[in-house]
Amino acid sequence: MDLGIKGKTALVCGASKGLGRGCAEALAAEGVHVTIVARTADVLEATAAEIRQKTGATVTAVACDITSADGRAKALAACPQPDILVTNAGGPPTGDFRTWTRDDWIAALDANMLTPIELIKATVDGMMSRRFGRIINITSSAVKAPIDILGLSNGARSGLTGFVAGLARKTVAHNVTINNMLPGQFDTDRLKKTLGAAAGSSGKSIDEVYAARRLQIPAQRFGTPAEFGALCAFLCSVHAGYMTGQNVLLDGGNYPGTF
Ligand code: NAD
Repeated sequence: MDLGIKGKTALVCGASKGLGRGCAEALAAEGVHVTIVARTADVLEATAAEIRQKTGATVTAVACDITSADGRAKALAACPQPDILVTNAGGPPTGDFRTWTRDDWIAALDANMLTPIELIKATVDGMMSRRFGRIINITSSAVKAPIDILGLSNGARSGLTGFVAGLARKTVAHNVTINNMLPGQFDTDRLKKTLGAAAGSSGKSIDEVYAARRLQIPAQRFGTPAEFGALCAFLCSVHAGYMTGQNVLLDGGNYPGTF
């Protein structure tokens, strides 16, 4: 299927690795000019070179912390009028809410709620005036099925989800859609970190924890960044203009509800 987005521009955050990279790569494969953002310049440059080589697309790399005002200014200077925006940053740490301070909460809200909102604010009016825009926020399955030790994530991402639910109904008449993608368990560095922490506290090896976790998923495996990216590219396509304000779960069947 031709997704109809060849030649469009995309700003993809948190894209040197993992799910953000999966999205950047899938968009680049459709001929989208992508600007990718992450904090570590050498890793990001290496990713940009690989995506260029694989897809032949124009890939611009901007090394910055997207959760800071300076970082966002740098990213938007490199890609001031994106047709496609994918918001993403690292997830907050796990823990017990009794130990979290106000600063911990502010950091989580900054990274996983206010940064996406600031990026949307900076780009959505331009998209509406050009009558095309696709905004994807990478959130988490924890928005639909909260995970107790991820309270910072449950809270901050739910705030973003509530905000998006309202705005997405205002933009769609201008052919600008805003949807959230909710990853379950995907084989990325982030998963290695959370499963490593689980192994540490249970006294089991990381391989044992991996195997047990995998078998709890109906698909019997973790998802791949390429699978995540493929759906992202579809949601950013010309064919997905009637879908907005949705929370799309990709979790190998893990969520047990009917819908
Ligand atoms: P990852 O650690 O593999 O990759 C994160 C990417 O974001 C990296 O490129 C990193 O450099 C970049 N990044 C992190 N903080 C940044 C910042 N402040 N500024 C700019 N770039 C930044 O993580 P992932 O697994 O791809 O996860 C992406 C998001 O999805 C995270 O918020 C994570 O919590 C969430 N999530 C992941 C899973 C999973 O199973 N992998 C499940 C649920 C939610």
